[in-house]
This record gives sequence, C-alpha cells and structure tokens, in this order.
Amino acid sequence: MDKILRTLICEGQVSLSLIDTTALVNEAVRIHKPTKKAAEILGGLLTCGAYLAAGLKIDGGCISLTVKAKDGDGAVSVSADSALNVRGYADGSCGTTLVGGTLTVVREDGYSQPFVGTCEIEADDVSDILELYFQQSEQIPTAVALKCDFGEDGSCKYFGGVVIQLLPDASDSAIEQAGAAFEEFKDAEGFTDVSKILADYFHTLISGEVTQMFPQYKCNCSEEKIRGVLASVGKTELLKICDELGEVKVHCHYCNKDYIYGKARIEEIF
Ligand SMILES: [Zn+2]
Repeated sequence: MDKILRTLICEGQVSLSLIDTTALVNEAVRIHKPTKKAAEILGGLLTCGAYLAAGLKIDGGCISLTVKAKDGDGAVSVSADSALNVRGYADGSCGTTLVGGTLTVVREDGYSQPFVGTCEIEADDVSDILELYFQQSEQIPTAVALKCDFGEDGSCKYFGGVVIQLLPDASDSAIEQAGAAFEEFKDAEGFTDVSKILADYFHTLISGEVTQMFPQYKCNCSEEKIRGVLASVGKTELLKICDELGEVKVHCHYCNKDYIYGKARIEEIF
C-alpha cells in the first residue's frame, strides 16, 4: 500500500517526508502504457503530486503539475486533491531531453486566487527539476531524492523517495545533520518500506510526531461531471456534432475512459 510519512527533524527546523508511490505508479503504467522515459517523469510528478496534496490546508484543495517538453515534444500532467486522490497521464514520448521545457504547478488551497508557479527545466532528472521548482517558485530550500525501477514489461518495481524542506531560520547544524542523512539515503541502492527508511536514516533526528497518509490513484471523472460539461456546451451544438459524427465522445485523459452520448442520451441531459 502506498504511504507518506511526515515528521519534523533536527529540533523542528526541517520537515521530512518519505513517500512510497509504487502502487500508484503501477496503476498509471497499467492505464497509460507510457514509454520508459515518460513513465519516470509521470511517476515523479505523481509522487510529487501526492507530496503536495498531503500539504494542502483545506478540504477540497487541489494541485496540478504539468511538465511540457521543449518544442511540443510531449507533456506529462498530474492532478491531486486533499483526499490524496492522485491521477495523471503522459502525452507523447517526452523525447530525449526535457531541458528547455517547463514545469508548472497550480495550487488551489482556499485562497481567492490559485497559486501558479512555473520554472524552466534545466536537468532531465525529475528530482533535480522539483528541487529547482521549490527553490525558484516557492523560495523553499528543498532536497528531493526520488528512486524508481521498472521491470522488462514496464511494470514499476518501486517508486518513491524522500523530500526535506528547511523551515525558516533553520540553523547551520540542522542543515548539516539533515543534509548528511539525506545524502546517505540518496547514495544507497534501492528503495525499501518507508518505515524502514525512517528508521535507517533519520531515526536519531526525529523531533515531532510521525503522521501517516495513504495516497491512491483515483480519477474524479464521473457521468455527472461529464453531463455538466456537455450541458454547458448546449443542446444545439451537441446535436450538430451528433449529426456529423454519429455520437458525442468525451475522453478522460486521466483514466483513459470514453463517455459516449448518442442523440437520445443528449436529449436526456436537457
Ligand atoms: Zn477519468
């Protein structure tokens, strides 16, 4: 089962999150069958989406992350909500490099305007992309170490990682201690249960309660929502599409599901 462990370390001066999203990434791979490169980016964004969703302050808050490769060479998009339902899709192969592309994060967390942060991608490694994003767009010193492995058949053997963020006024010794434990985890081979990672690398530094959260892959599309969207398009327009194409098809990118409406069902909506 996927899991996020969150706590404070180094006398409350550093926040630590340990994230296991193996099942979530496997579900995404099963639905979308992305290329290996796209699977790594999608997995990284799903993991970061789960992390950011766990930090949302209000019920009903949500977050979206989009990586766009340069020159329209593919895009990966993830969205997540405060209930830790995470979903995403990869569109295209994402080519050979992401450098020169962009990462955009939109966070709706109860403020009148959503927070929108964007940064230009300077590296191909998803951990590096996320570190730069937090540093540039949110001005939070952050270290991210994601680890993953995929089998021959494309299935995900493991996906997860560690995120540490400095709280304001973190001392030099706190930064040094947290950094050393983080680097030790980063340099080690493989990925284990998050409780074991906490015990193995961060145990002596813990200075707060450890909270557990359980993200999952879940799309929030529904017949009702699609009907709402169609209603806003208008009956005349929909019937026109029906005449031309025989039906109205609405595709959900996140779960790869098609919602199909013939004339009779369109009449029903109105
Ligand atoms: Zn869906």
